[in-house]
Amino acid sequence: MAAIAEPTSFEEPYEAIGVEHRTATIAELWLRPLAGILEYRPGEYVLLADDRGEVPPRSFSVANAPRSDGLISLLVTRVGEGATSLWVHDRLRVGQMASVSGPFGTFVDDPAATAPALFLAAGSGLAPIRALVEAALARPGRRELTLVFSARTEADVIDRERFGQWQAEHERFRFIRTLTRATGPHARGRIPALLPELSADLSGHDVFVAGAPGFVRACATAAEALGARRERVKTEVFFVEPQPWTGEPAQVRQPT
Ligand SMILES: Cc1cc2nc3c(=O)[nH]c(=O)nc-3n(C[C@H](O)[C@H](O)[C@H](O)COP(=O)(O)OP(=O)(O)OC[C@H]3O[C@@H](n4cnc5c(N)ncnc54)[C@H](O)[C@@H]3O)c2cc1C
Repeated sequence: MAAIAEPTSFEEPYEAIGVEHRTATIAELWLRPLAGILEYRPGEYVLLADDRGEVPPRSFSVANAPRSDGLISLLVTRVGEGATSLWVHDRLRVGQMASVSGPFGTFVDDPAATAPALFLAAGSGLAPIRALVEAALARPGRRELTLVFSARTEADVIDRERFGQWQAEHERFRFIRTLTRATGPHARGRIPALLPELSADLSGHDVFVAGAPGFVRACATAAEALGARRERVKTEVFFVEPQPWTGEPAQVRQPT
């Protein structure tokens, strides 16, 4: 069992070096550290805000494994009327500053684990999962890794090429995309219904699930029904916290 991360005092300026609209609703933001480099474990999240205190800090999972140059990427879903997600999607430009603090979270892997791992993600829930898979593949070993990514349509599938390449390079990695709003035999449908076809017995697996609350709950329940042990089903729920925003400078806080 991984230790719970202690809140740190890390809060540093970062520069946006890329804002790419990956799908109709998800933007990928690449950030470069201008001062200190954030030390984090794959799967953890940060609080992101603007550097002027005009948008509130919000939690976003880091979508890449730690790099020596300190670059981090975030996958940000556009939320209707959402203060920070709309800032990222509509106003943040390359060259502008952002504030990053953290890291936070318990959605981390045991680097010494050898049990097969099943990763389940939907939408921007792919962010921490991508970091975890990238880190796991960088470690030597024979641990089998399966990533199942749920998207509405083919146009919503992020990183198909990247995962195809990882699959070609690593025999122990399998990537499966499943579509929930497409028809035909290759759509596959929702993950909870698909899981029994992929594995009849998950009792020996570590399971990681990330995304919106309903998705995470349904996948965790389905995994446990196939024998996954509750203490080995790790979840990261991207709950949305509506908060009154006063326009006062942002107070970085530890989310509850
Ligand atoms: C651990 C964790 C990790 C996360 N990781 C990610 C990630 O990797 N990617 C990602 O995209 N998201 C992630 N999230 C969600 C993210 O933190 C934000 O909640 C999300 O981006 C919305 O923030 P926002 O500022 O855009 O919206 P907010 O301004 O917080 O608004 C949220 C919703 O509340 C409504 N609302 C706001 N104010 C009011 C009001 N006064 N009255 C009524 N309704 C109101 C808005 O219309 C909107 O629908 C994560 C959440 C958690 C907890």
